[in-house]
Amino acid sequence: MPSFSYRCPQCCTTSPRVLTHDAALAEQAIHRDQFHGGHRPDGDAVTCYRTERWSEADHLERWITVVLVAVILLVLAYNTL
Ligand SMILES: [Zn+2]
Repeated sequence: MPSFSYRCPQCCTTSPRVLTHDAALAEQAIHRDQFHGGHRPDGDAVTCYRTERWSEADHLERWITVVLVAVILLVLAYNTL
């Protein structure tokens, strides 16, 4: 699941990571209003961080799929002999 943060290079600050792009845009709007009078600081941006975090359910689902495919391949190989 990706996460997002807003960075203002003029203030050398980065918002805490949030779970949606819209939430990061809200951080951007709040920062612009509070510290820059609603102006857009040069170079400010929202960054998306992609992570490959698998839950235990994801791991179990993938293992079951691998085992089933292996069993199917073994059955097919056995039946063709
Ligand atoms: Zn700033």
